Amino acid sequence: MADYKKDDQLIATHLGDEYEKYLGSIIPPIFMNSLHVFDNIEQYNDKSLRPKDGFFYGRVSNPTAHIVERKVAAMEHAEHGLTFASGMAAATTALMAVCKAGSHIICVKNAYGVLTGYIENYCVPELNMSVTYVTGDKVEDFEKAIQPNTDYIILESPVSLVFTLQDIRAIAALAKKHNIKTYIDNSYCTPIFQKPLDMGIDIVMHTASKYLGGHSDIIGGVLTMNDEELFKKCSMLREQLGGIIGPMEAWLMMRGIRTLDVRIREHEKTAMKVATWLENNDKIAKVYYPGLKSHPQYELMKSQQGGNTGLMSFEFKTEDRDKICKFVNALKIFKIGVSWGGFESLVCTPMYPGSPEHAKEAGCGWGIVRIHCGLEGADNLIADIQQAMDVAGI
Ligand SMILES: *Cc1c(COP(=O)(O)O)cnc(C)c1O
Repeated sequence: MADYKKDDQLIATHLGDEYEKYLGSIIPPIFMNSLHVFDNIEQYNDKSLRPKDGFFYGRVSNPTAHIVERKVAAMEHAEHGLTFASGMAAATTALMAVCKAGSHIICVKNAYGVLTGYIENYCVPELNMSVTYVTGDKVEDFEKAIQPNTDYIILESPVSLVFTLQDIRAIAALAKKHNIKTYIDNSYCTPIFQKPLDMGIDIVMHTASKYLGGHSDIIGGVLTMNDEELFKKCSMLREQLGGIIGPMEAWLMMRGIRTLDVRIREHEKTAMKVATWLENNDKIAKVYYPGLKSHPQYELMKSQQGGNTGLMSFEFKTEDRDKICKFVNALKIFKIGVSWGGFESLVCTPMYPGSPEHAKEAGCGWGIVRIHCGLEGADNLIADIQQAMDVAGI
């Protein structure tokens, strides 16, 4: 039989089930409590007398959150997991654990915008940090950007706009040589399709609003890591900054994770059909999806990912903004919204709030359309795209 601690499907479905402890419940309960009481005052006074993995206050730890932490950590092949109130709470805590005033950061150019916003609007002006952005598809870009005070490399592979990848193994090795800590946002691949810690990365982050939750009903985040010192620092900061996940959200994340494997495989199957259809359509100029053989980093993808999920971008041959907006408005199944990773299909035009120059800088056309392929069925999604193109006259 497969190892409970190593097999992703067993971890996702059953790790943390303790029937004898929870009255035979098939599902561990939600611990909706802010504190735990002690047997005697000696335990209260002396940490070493408390049970191992003991709980005492809900801002520090929670049993439901702890089950999820064990699940995600096991799937990521990590020693430690920490859940947070959001992906951003996780990302900012990790950055604070590694960096100090004056640190230099190397960051992938199209990394999650709220994180780069935090660096630019707080870390740089208030903490005298500096940041160098790199496209990220060449390892040399990182090497050239290293400075004596470089402490942190921020990766997101693939990036969730233009779907370029970073060579995770090579960048992790380079960083180790220079004593730089590495962080990756693994929300797109999920631990099922990509295990960055095995490739040498120090910290892996997930936002639970995407595939881990999978039902568009929670905000949450997770960090996983092996380094003991880093874990202690992140735990301390979580306690002090107060960013732990709520018990209800933790429980919903646990529920989402039970079906993670089947969901992402269905997202992948659907997205491959949609991407292939788009690529073969003569109205489409370009499809950004790492699952396509035409993706410039397809071989790298094969070497570090076990698959791809439901998110992609594409550009029409027409650059007529009115037509593209008309197309988006005419979609029926794809709803207009920012997120992804849930059961539902979504669409947005990420570059239209900015300028054409802004899009060029990001490495795409102004009219780029991003879609998340949900679980409504590939044929339905393709029919929806076709009818919206007809309405828009594309
Ligand atoms: C949504 C998202 C985040 C932010 O997570 P929150 O839980 O919303 O804070 C970070 N990274 C990526 C790639 C995302 O899509």
